[in-house]
Amino acid sequence: MSTLEIKNLHVNVETDQGTREILRGVDLVINEGEIHAVMGPNGSGKSTLAYTIAGHPKYAVVQGEILLDGENVLEMSVDERARAGLFLAMQYPVEIPGVTNTNFLRTAKTAISGEAPGIRQWTKDVKSAMDDLRMDASFAARNVNEGFSGGEKKRNEILQLELLKPQFAVLDETDSGLDVDALKIVSEGVNRAHSNTGLGVLLITHYTRILRYIKPDYVHVFVAGRVAEQGGPELAERLEEEGYDRYVTEAASAE
Ligand code: ADP
Ligand code: MG
Ligand code: MG
Repeated sequence: MSTLEIKNLHVNVETDQGTREILRGVDLVINEGEIHAVMGPNGSGKSTLAYTIAGHPKYAVVQGEILLDGENVLEMSVDERARAGLFLAMQYPVEIPGVTNTNFLRTAKTAISGEAPGIRQWTKDVKSAMDDLRMDASFAARNVNEGFSGGEKKRNEILQLELLKPQFAVLDETDSGLDVDALKIVSEGVNRAHSNTGLGVLLITHYTRILRYIKPDYVHVFVAGRVAEQGGPELAERLEEEGYDRYVTEAASAE
């Protein structure tokens, strides 16, 4: 069984005002096939956690570990992380001018699996995944995310997820900016990947809304760079009623 372990993770970022510690001892274990929701207020470090797992160079790990099946992820390049089975759907997906979606997907698939996918099966797979996500066929020939609406970018992230078939996916606010129909379509994509391939999911969100469609096994409340509380799905319901204020106050008084 595959496991992604985050142990006592401390992460700094260099800002104009100097070094800032953003993650302050994060512990999280995700097993294959588990869905973990990470919920927390703005600025608590959720995207920093996502970028650090993906290997963004801006985020310096000063203490702690990230292990994938016992292997040290922090020693891996961004490419190696992808090949090892990690995937990040970004909060703000980047546009890649001059690269079509089709070419991007095929190149990524080839890099990850070590060989080019057979063209006929691949073409079928791409078309079928796009149909499932209600993406018009014209998106295949368009440059990656260029001129896409917010919702189209989020669907495109899930298209990559479904085709690249990672072992673990970090979804950073994939729900934000989606109307209810798009939210359902995107959630169904995540659920398909979860049930077809045993995908483990770290679902970062601000709102409980998406948890009606993607059912978490565990919920973590993330405040001021750490997990302040963990629980089951009932914790999300409580957060919906109570908000994050209590946790923010507790974190501030613990300073
Ligand atoms: P969240 O995703 O929970 O809203 P972020 O991880 O985006 O939080 O940000 C956490 C804190 O770290 C914020 O105060 C943010 O301004 C700061 N931060 C994150 N990335 C950078 C960066 N590259 N440069 C400067 N500050 C950053
Ligand atoms: Mg945010
Ligand atoms: Mg964020």
